[in-house]
Amino acid sequence: MGIRENVRAILEELPEGVILEAAIKQRTVEEILEAIEAGVEVVGDNYVQEMEAKSRVIGERVRWHFIGRLQRNKVKRLAKFADMVETVDSLGLAEEINRRCASLGKVMPVLIEVNSGREPQKAGVLPENTEELVREIAKFPNIKVSGLMTMGPLVGNPEDSRPYFVETRKIFEELRSLQIPNVEMRYLSMGMTGSYKVAIEEGANIVRIGTKIFGERMG
Ligand SMILES: *Cc1c(COP(=O)(O)O)cnc(C)c1O
Repeated sequence: MGIRENVRAILEELPEGVILEAAIKQRTVEEILEAIEAGVEVVGDNYVQEMEAKSRVIGERVRWHFIGRLQRNKVKRLAKFADMVETVDSLGLAEEINRRCASLGKVMPVLIEVNSGREPQKAGVLPENTEELVREIAKFPNIKVSGLMTMGPLVGNPEDSRPYFVETRKIFEELRSLQIPNVEMRYLSMGMTGSYKVAIEEGANIVRIGTKIFGERMG
């Protein structure tokens, strides 16, 4: 099957209201355009430079989400063309995004990345610290907290991801019920090729899919 068929098959089975985000790291402009022509409206990339180059060519036909580890010295570049940053996990990073967006006269929607597996080497804020971080970031005028994102530990069996998605959903609902000013708990970004069906069952409304659209990555 080709990219087009893969995208159509996924879109057909996604429930209403769930956004397909194509994870485009290491993919070519041609491959990404094929996915867009088949109906992809959101792409997510992990690398600022590559993403910038692709966005220069592809432009506003699609929305550009950042889903990688973001270094502060790359924020200035990213702020110019990103439509959302899904991987905000510290006050310092948020501060830099706010500063750069302020000088562009732009408000950046962000998701807070939760380290739902509590893995020491992994990005993301710990579940118990999420509310405090959200409250702090909510004070920045050029950032709009718009939901949560999680990766969860790498597991073989998709079922094993479920507890991490359940935990992130719980935090999402709790934060929503708190009605913190300048915080909108709208997007819950969870699930990849192996786990997106389980993620949707547990409340995800953005699923980030690479392999199932484009095939295995090289290297
Ligand atoms: C690569 C990547 C994905 C997609 O992974 P696949 O298993 O190829 O679907 C999703 N989220 C993030 C953050 C990624 O880096």
